[in-house]
Amino acid sequence: MTALLSIENLTVEYAVGGKALFAVSDVSLEVGRGETLGLVGESGCGKSTLGRAVLQLRRPTGGRVTFDGTELTRLDGEALRLMRRRLQLIFQDPIASLNPRRSIGDIVAEPLVITGVVDRGERERRVRDVLAAVGLDADLVMGRLPHEFSGGQCQRICIARALILEPELVICDEPVSALDVSIRAQILNLLEDMKRRYGLTLLFIAHDLAVVKAVSDRIAVMYLGRLCEVGPTEQLFARPAHPYTALLLEAIPVPDPTVKPAANLAAGEPPSPLDPPSGCRFRTRCPRADQTCADVVPELREIAVGQFAACHHPLG
Ligand code: ADP
Ligand code: MG
Repeated sequence: MTALLSIENLTVEYAVGGKALFAVSDVSLEVGRGETLGLVGESGCGKSTLGRAVLQLRRPTGGRVTFDGTELTRLDGEALRLMRRRLQLIFQDPIASLNPRRSIGDIVAEPLVITGVVDRGERERRVRDVLAAVGLDADLVMGRLPHEFSGGQCQRICIARALILEPELVICDEPVSALDVSIRAQILNLLEDMKRRYGLTLLFIAHDLAVVKAVSDRIAVMYLGRLCEVGPTEQLFARPAHPYTALLLEAIPVPDPTVKPAANLAAGEPPSPLDPPSGCRFRTRCPRADQTCADVVPELREIAVGQFAACHHPLG
């Protein structure tokens, strides 16, 4: 599979009170055309920052992002705006990401207006098409305001807005985290349908491995700004190589109430990204850590075919 998106040594640091906050450090990843890559890790590990840095909404401190052969990190102005149409972002909080004073018809049409589709009839036709695709009745919704809709419906509207320019890559940043459990599956199914219908490539961000499992071809696990492990979904679930991946897997709730929940992740809070541990950043919570882990940053290396882990003592 050829990479549509290539992220090389991506680093993003924020300045916080005169100190550097290491949000994303030296992350390299590829997403193949037509692939869904799941990106998981605890809240605060840098997932959203990475997503925004891919789109150049936050300029990285270092590294490169290449989309379909064009280096986004070197573009700006009009050239960047043109490329951005091919990449879209869907946010966690659908209600907050819709302008409360504008009608659904106007919200979904806005990307068309911005990109210069001047013909009103053409705009309306495309809005109707994409609303139908996400399962909404255009006649019923176009004239209404966001507050008249549920969270799930608002996420459908956000998805329609993201798809109206027919992008190639969609970054879904925790698209179901803010929704009721009962409607999460509907939105995940919708994203799968949209992926097929529009031939999309997805970078699917979640803090929960269980959510990405259903939709991802491969999964990348992040911890405190660094990549721990990347591999095919089935393989990573069956044979995690990084101790952190194993811990995340154990923390997935079991539907059976008589089964005791395994290792509690909260048992060790992640350290601050303002002052990350030396060497392997996971070492302060890792049962396998030794002196090497404190001294040497582990490089990502291939543990099994297609499965990579950044660990001095991988499971296996
Ligand atoms: P995630 O999406 O995985 O929860 P984020 O990318 O939002 O993580 O955040 C990564 C780290 O960067 C966190 O420590 C967060 O507090 C910090 N951070 C995020 N955005 C900013 C910002 N604009 N300024 C300073 N620090 C930020
Ligand atoms: Mg986030």
